[in-house]
Amino acid sequence: MKELPAIADLSFGLLRGSIKAQDVVADIRDNIEKREVNINAYINHYIDQAETQARRADESGYPEDETADLKGIPVAVKDNICVKGWPCTCASNILNGFIPPYEATAVKRLREKGVILLGKTNLDEFAMGASNETSAYGPVRNPLDPGRVPGGSSGGSAAAVAYGGAVAALGSDTGGSIRQPASFCGLVGLRPSYGRVSRWGLVAFSSSLDQIGPITKTVEDAALLYSIIAGPDENDSTTCPQPPDEIRLTGRIPEGIKVGMITECFEEIKDSRIAEAVRSPFIKAGIDIQEISIPLVRLSVAGYYLLVVSEASSNLARYDGIRYGKRISKLGLTETYFATRSQGFGDEVTRRILLGTFGLSAGYIDAYYNTALSYRAELAKQFKKAFDEVDFLLTPTTPTVAFKLGEKIQDPLDMYLSDIFTASSALAALPSISIPAPDKVDGLPVGIQLIAPRWKDSELLEFAHAVEKI
Ligand code: GLN
Repeated sequence: MKELPAIADLSFGLLRGSIKAQDVVADIRDNIEKREVNINAYINHYIDQAETQARRADESGYPEDETADLKGIPVAVKDNICVKGWPCTCASNILNGFIPPYEATAVKRLREKGVILLGKTNLDEFAMGASNETSAYGPVRNPLDPGRVPGGSSGGSAAAVAYGGAVAALGSDTGGSIRQPASFCGLVGLRPSYGRVSRWGLVAFSSSLDQIGPITKTVEDAALLYSIIAGPDENDSTTCPQPPDEIRLTGRIPEGIKVGMITECFEEIKDSRIAEAVRSPFIKAGIDIQEISIPLVRLSVAGYYLLVVSEASSNLARYDGIRYGKRISKLGLTETYFATRSQGFGDEVTRRILLGTFGLSAGYIDAYYNTALSYRAELAKQFKKAFDEVDFLLTPTTPTVAFKLGEKIQDPLDMYLSDIFTASSALAALPSISIPAPDKVDGLPVGIQLIAPRWKDSELLEFAHAVEKI
């Protein structure tokens, strides 16, 4: 495999003229040709278009102005984020043939800075999953060990960056889908505060939780992409009207910083080597880490799944065979809906629509959906209280390292438990990042998850950058 530079190094090289975007894209083509058959990270790539763009970028040069911040940087996009004119499949048969007539705000902002888009990456169908095995386009394999999953649902984005099929990628995170694949593939994955990055053009799964964020090789790269995609957007009323704070990456651990390890998470870890790998860099650096209890975190998987299946059942009602993508025509409208939806959706999506419809129905809504809403509000309060005592919270990103293909796919509950450390901060709308721990377990990467108070994304990136330097 041809090693690709990080965004920061590539930008610098392009500016000085020591690297050409064309050569980087040529290396990407090489890597894709060698690895893609086996890894399956892309649903569609457009490497020819990328080559043309790279050539043009090199020819027109790299001025030191704002419009060229990311000029010549090749980036991949998860296939539930709309790129105008390119098919958007969400890894589902039901969207066969759907070409979005508009572009996601996050993509538009990257393009305005000169990014070269490489293609659309594989994912779990409609981003529902933790292993990338529910894709209608086949599973993605982990480039570090192709017998294992890359994580999900942004598994294609993580795998592409891990094998050199892209310099960086955009993913989406509802309950862990950026952080968990980043962790399984030894990368950095940032889930911004809910409301920091516009969801315009991100196909809705669970609208009160979905966020777009970067998957990159370094924290600096995550900060570079974040600072461009973050900020208010008139097309998404849930975006924060204030612009994000500036990020200053000094690499220094701030004096007197306090980090809290969430007791309930560390208690759940079966493999003590994972806990060790997560704690050790902090201990080595002499950072004050203390245990902090957030009791409601224990119920986060239950609360998360009640909410996401409810929102998904509502959001996915729009795929009726009439307005988008695939249609199985039958005599009669109801029959057409029935045939299209039964054949268009895979098992996991169908399961969630059924569960969600049940949980929202008269007679059950109080017991399920409304209870989950109250739970969510209480959980957010407990997080807030914890942040009165510490600056950042620490957990492993995942309870295990990357598991084997096929290991959990027959057991949905086991699969859902992969989200045990990532769901809670998503429910509380908090920014969280996964960075690779220095020590591996069984030769596989372990993710360190850091969580910050809402809107403290910049501080989170600054701190994660300092921890990465350890
Ligand atoms: N694994 C979680 C789920 O299946 C998270 C998915 C996501 O964040 N998109 O819902």
